[in-house]
Amino acid sequence: MARKLIAGNWKMNGLRESAAALAGDLAARATGPFGCDMVVCPPATLLGPVGEALRGSGVALGGQDCHPARSGAYTGDVSAEMLADAGCRYVIVGHSERRAGHGEGDAVVRAKAEAVVSAGMTPIVCVGETEAQRGAGQALAVIEAQVTGSLPVGVDGASMVIAYEPVWAIGTGQTATPADVAEVHGHIRGLLERLFGGAAAGSLRILYGGSVKPGNAAELLAVTNVDGALVGGASLDAGDFWAIGASAG
Ligand code: PEP
Repeated sequence: MARKLIAGNWKMNGLRESAAALAGDLAARATGPFGCDMVVCPPATLLGPVGEALRGSGVALGGQDCHPARSGAYTGDVSAEMLADAGCRYVIVGHSERRAGHGEGDAVVRAKAEAVVSAGMTPIVCVGETEAQRGAGQALAVIEAQVTGSLPVGVDGASMVIAYEPVWAIGTGQTATPADVAEVHGHIRGLLERLFGGAAAGSLRILYGGSVKPGNAAELLAVTNVDGALVGGASLDAGDFWAIGASAG
């Protein structure tokens, strides 16, 4: 398995000055070799200054979402090709805040992920159950349907990433227990083996996301089949994000 991947989702936070300062702080820590892959995903308006601040560091740039089409009459949207042109190497697709807030279903998420791959980048495809679904014993079935419906078809495992993010753990301070994470990640790995075969399944990184902080990162990242983390709130503090990365390797 490749190095663990620590991805920061800045969501709709930051202005040019604060974003450049945050990215610059991170870049200053990332001048020497470090033991994981790192990417930060700022809002689209900040890709320029953040990319500039990260230049020459080992921290990659990513987008938070894209439109499935290459170009056209889609007011307000950004295409995968535009994100690649801005220097992105990864794009988050299917985040629960987009699935819930923008009504995005699996077919749309898959189309976006395919657009990301076509543009030469790696999609980070998010899946995760709600609290009600977990309470009803449906967590694994929901995740299985999302993975099956959202992943691009015919793409090798190393070119995509899955993020398991239980919706009830995002931004709430609640985290899934290591046992729950092990169960879901193991289930996803088994499903990937059935869908793509062992080699592809083995090279596909599965991240955990949901209130990952410096204090719980080491425990979560040590769980079998956890190949990294998708970090929201704690990625807005360079020291915290760096500490999470240090827990990964
Ligand atoms: C996220 O937005 O993907 C996320 C996991 O957020 P947080 O770390 O704040 O829970």
